[in-house]
Amino acid sequence: MEYPLIFDGHNDLLLQIQSGKVASDDSGFRGNGGHHIDLSKAKAGGFAGGFFAIYVPDDSGASFMEEMMADSYDLPLPPAVGWPRAIETALAQAAILTRQEAQGALRICRTVEDIRTAMGDGIMAAVMHMEGAEAIDPDFHTLEVLHAAGLRSLGPVWSRPTIFGHGVPFRFPGSPDTGPGLTEDGVRLVRKCNELGLMIDLSHLNEAGFWDVARHSSKPLVATHSNAHALCPHSRNLTDRQLHVIRDTDGMVGLNFAVAFLREDGRMDADTPVLRMVEHLDYLIKVLGEDRVGLGSDFDGATVPDGIKDISGLPALRKAMKAQGYAEELMAKLCHGNWLRVLEETWT
Ligand code: ZN
Repeated sequence: MEYPLIFDGHNDLLLQIQSGKVASDDSGFRGNGGHHIDLSKAKAGGFAGGFFAIYVPDDSGASFMEEMMADSYDLPLPPAVGWPRAIETALAQAAILTRQEAQGALRICRTVEDIRTAMGDGIMAAVMHMEGAEAIDPDFHTLEVLHAAGLRSLGPVWSRPTIFGHGVPFRFPGSPDTGPGLTEDGVRLVRKCNELGLMIDLSHLNEAGFWDVARHSSKPLVATHSNAHALCPHSRNLTDRQLHVIRDTDGMVGLNFAVAFLREDGRMDADTPVLRMVEHLDYLIKVLGEDRVGLGSDFDGATVPDGIKDISGLPALRKAMKAQGYAEELMAKLCHGNWLRVLEETWT
């Protein structure tokens, strides 16, 4: 097994299983060619678990990957997704996660102790996360029921509007300051998440929404899968001003492996050295400090560097971190320790 174990801020495996692209049967799930997460490869790569996103795709089936190969791009925000469709998909994906648990492929973790125990037992630790709150009604009935079912983390938006706020479009080069902030329901959602002990994820929020969460949330600020705007001026990345307030609340940022958010030229080009990931880590550590940086792979939701390829490539990242001179203690913080610290502070 590879050490230190990795607990990761973001993956889109549930969508891949739901759409039939990743095979799943009584023995768990297998990432067929082109997909990132696979049970046996996860063990070999030292992947101990992470946030598993419930995500509702829109009807268009559009993929931005090709447009993001250009030198610059400004993709329009996709239309909002209605509640009936969203709740149907969200429940289907929550059910997939629950079934994976019943089959023994993973364990749904509701506390940090659950995560530590799963890591010790060598079973994948899964935090149920929702990326975009289209399935949440303004009375929070679905939020309360999903929380009871294990939901512990929520992004008010993906990169499109919801009744709670506005997502940031995929724009390069571009600023995250792209529109209005949270709605009144969005502010109520922040307070409700604080009350329930649900983590709020800032990745995909536009900048005005980010400041609104900063103003109204009593918990550390967290972006599960975002990078440094100073190194890659993409609208999805965080400016130094945003990083400073994340630092001041003792929150954290998970490094997104998506090449378009890593590269200086913003292209979704897998021919990107693993060293580029370490350069973002270096920068995030410089601004946020060693206790506020982790990983947020975006596995099964984005194109990652060729040197990583899939979950079995995680040792290449550890090797690059070591080569950069990261001491053992720092490695453990970046790989899982900082996530556990922030979740401890957020869930209680
Ligand atoms: Zn995402």
